[in-house]
Amino acid sequence: MPADTATDTAPETGGTPNGELIRFDNVTKRFGDNTVLDDLCFSVKPGKHVTLIGPSGSGKTTILRLLMTLESPEEGTITVAGRKLFPAAEKERREARKKIGMVFQQFNLFPNMTVLRNITEAPVRVLGLSKEEAEARARELLELVGLSEKADAKPGQLSGGQQQRVAIARALAMRPQVLLLDEVTSALDPELVAGVLDLLRDIARTTDITMVCVTHEMGFARDISDEVLMFDGGKVIESGPPEKIFSDPEQARTREFLGAVL
Ligand code: ADP
Repeated sequence: MPADTATDTAPETGGTPNGELIRFDNVTKRFGDNTVLDDLCFSVKPGKHVTLIGPSGSGKTTILRLLMTLESPEEGTITVAGRKLFPAAEKERREARKKIGMVFQQFNLFPNMTVLRNITEAPVRVLGLSKEEAEARARELLELVGLSEKADAKPGQLSGGQQQRVAIARALAMRPQVLLLDEVTSALDPELVAGVLDLLRDIARTTDITMVCVTHEMGFARDISDEVLMFDGGKVIESGPPEKIFSDPEQARTREFLGAVL
């Protein structure tokens, strides 16, 4: 048996022996003297939609960036779909990372590539799909996000809302088990926000993809979340279903935060 199958506990059905798809165990992340995540533990079950809330600087984006392996923790263990992301050998980390797609605040599309190529690039390069397979999948996804007629356009010819739809299609093209959403509407003109959130609501409702969202759109968070985690001081200070957290939070700090954003 190859060595790296020892931790490969049925990634298709969830991952860890407890059925969690994502698991942070005692994760500490520091930037210099700034301890951003402090002995953090939380987990997400497959198919669940979890929203991270909390004041600016409380480490929410850092959690997503750790999951994308754009940052590394100083301490602790991060597991995705039964595979170690940290600490892990590069090969195992790459396999774990393939399960995760991310949509960024600033879209981050490749400006010189067409919309279609933006979506096919990673499936061809990383998953080894043929160009034809990748294009067929990309066209299905463009239909899903309502942009079939923009396949040959360049990102600069699209509105911010359309670019974000392409970024969502690009993330889904990798068939991730987990979709990370980092403030995906905060760079959009106000009239474009509702369309993107409606698309994400549809994806949440009609697919079994697991979502981890950072958002200030509390109405959206209330609609799609199974669980809301409130962060402060590098820890989860409160968690629960959105009805509870938004209507009857236990912690004064949560009430204060929600009072400022709602
Ligand atoms: P949030 O998403 O909750 O607003 P972040 O995760 O973006 O918080 O940031 C948490 C803290 O980490 C902030 O104090 C921020 O300044 C700091 N930080 C984030 N990224 C870096 C970095 N690359 N270098 C130094 N400090 C960083």
